[in-house]
Amino acid sequence: MSNASDLSSAALQWQALDWHQRELDCLRLDLIDPLISGNKSFKLALNLKAAKAQGFERIVSFGGAYSNHIHALAAAGQTAGIKTTGVIRGQEHYAQNPCLSDAINMGMELHFVDRKTYAKRYQADYWQQLSELFGPSYIVPEGGANHLGAKGCEQIAQAINNRYQTCENGVEVVLASGTGTTAAGIASALDARHSLHIVNVLPQNEDFAVQLHRQIEALNPEAKARFEISNAHHLGSYAKFDAQTAALIDFAQQHWQLPLEPIYTAKAFARVVSLLARGGTRPVVFIHTGGLQGLRGCQAKLDTLRGKAEYQTHLARYQNLTINPDQAAAMDAEEGVLCPI
Ligand SMILES: *Cc1c(COP(=O)(O)O)cnc(C)c1O
Repeated sequence: MSNASDLSSAALQWQALDWHQRELDCLRLDLIDPLISGNKSFKLALNLKAAKAQGFERIVSFGGAYSNHIHALAAAGQTAGIKTTGVIRGQEHYAQNPCLSDAINMGMELHFVDRKTYAKRYQADYWQQLSELFGPSYIVPEGGANHLGAKGCEQIAQAINNRYQTCENGVEVVLASGTGTTAAGIASALDARHSLHIVNVLPQNEDFAVQLHRQIEALNPEAKARFEISNAHHLGSYAKFDAQTAALIDFAQQHWQLPLEPIYTAKAFARVVSLLARGGTRPVVFIHTGGLQGLRGCQAKLDTLRGKAEYQTHLARYQNLTINPDQAAAMDAEEGVLCPI
């Protein structure tokens, strides 16, 4: 793919994952482009178009030091020929980490701010200040979380609708959710017979579901696909992961050559495993939302976790799941892995 604002579903790749009698399919958004990763390319596409159409020469957005969104925006800006500035929560020396070094190399300017300043990122008067600092700028919220961001993700749903056009009972779609923008776009365009499992990678407040409904309604008042929000896999906070996460990452790599990272995709894949273990007949579609650039910041911790006894236990449990899913379902129930959503 060479143009971030011209994504076609022809570029989308699928990977069938073998799983006993059940159809398990992975939509590999991570393979769309080596730099404009996964779901971020869909959230940015229409924003880039709008920025250009409105005559802006610069896009400003916000993120942490390992932000997939910032990384993707730097790449998309470079491709589309539009300047980018990343307002980064943290200190100057973070610029040396792999994620932000890439962003700089792709032409992004970085502006480091303390927590207090970063907290103003949704305020119009702060946006005004930033436009005075950097020149007239199109502002994209943190994570690409705006209406156009969600709208761009409708294309992901269309790809699923097309692939499963003749699947009468529909499929169970699973994806990782941070801001919920991608999930909202998909839910708004997914055919009614499918269901969507939205896996929160961080604890959300009670307002999350309300906001999600509102966003879906704004995109498509006729939206009918059912969705469920799962809070069972975030481990208590954003970017938190444990020996079980490490085991799942290694298992998916060994068993399917499927690369996962611990912040988003492994947490969502844990939901895929619990769905499979529970049994059922509808095909399961896992949306790989990308984020693999973030692995570089996690390797040391993953290596430490691989040395723990629990890691071996969980790895064996995942391997057993592929041999005997019924037995594994019972195990999961005992361990309380299967959490109601
Ligand atoms: C940003 C990100 C998400 C979350 O997307 P939202 O639209 O904010 O919910 C999921 N997966 C990966 C890999 C991401 O980088």
